[in-house]
Amino acid sequence: MSAPRVVTIDGPGGAGKSTIARALAERLGVPHVDTGAIYRAATLAVLRAGADPADPAGCALVAAEARIDRAGGRTRLDGEDVEDVIRGAQVTGLVSQVSDHPPVRVALLDAQRVGLREHGGVVEGRDAGTAVAPDADLKVWLTASPEVRAARRAAQLGEESPEVRERLAADLARRDASDALRMRPAEDAMVVDTSDRGVHELVEQLWTAAQTGASR
Ligand code: C5P
Repeated sequence: MSAPRVVTIDGPGGAGKSTIARALAERLGVPHVDTGAIYRAATLAVLRAGADPADPAGCALVAAEARIDRAGGRTRLDGEDVEDVIRGAQVTGLVSQVSDHPPVRVALLDAQRVGLREHGGVVEGRDAGTAVAPDADLKVWLTASPEVRAARRAAQLGEESPEVRERLAADLARRDASDALRMRPAEDAMVVDTSDRGVHELVEQLWTAAQTGASR
């Protein structure tokens, strides 16, 4: 039997990473690894520890000591289900700052790689193809226009008024700016614009590419 497939999916918020990664993981029969959830849980740990989110070493210490794991699409911090709280405004407002610290990123590498070799996985993140799984069978970089990305976020929240869209577009631009340093496609990544594409069609394209290791 061939080794389980490892696929990385990176790109900015609202590009469609989560939807595509989840569906592709199911199609491939491998786990979906949501690395954003791991950074969010580490950020919650920083908040709970009362550490300074601006202090790289302090945050890294908290991140290294936190027990973060995911099962059944839920995220646990030190054994507690924190899936809902990590999606809230407080964590969302701080996660880019905490995840920007290089020692925090190093401290969280192992948590992102758990089980990859044994079970494969679709690893969704910002630097999955460059840092977490540079040997992946397929590396994908998803993009979409800023308007499409903001509209998707608004739809996810069920709030589609022009004011909300504007606020979400500003939030995406702010996070893009702070994510920009670590947000680059791997040199051998397949770049896909999802603006006008359906999920099913995209998943089929990536599934086919994953079978052949197209980005290798
Ligand atoms: O994907 P999600 O929106 O949950 O990610 C939240 C934030 O976590 C991102 O805006 C980014 O700042 C950070 N992140 C990261 N590296 C990853 C995944 C997420 O820095 N691999």
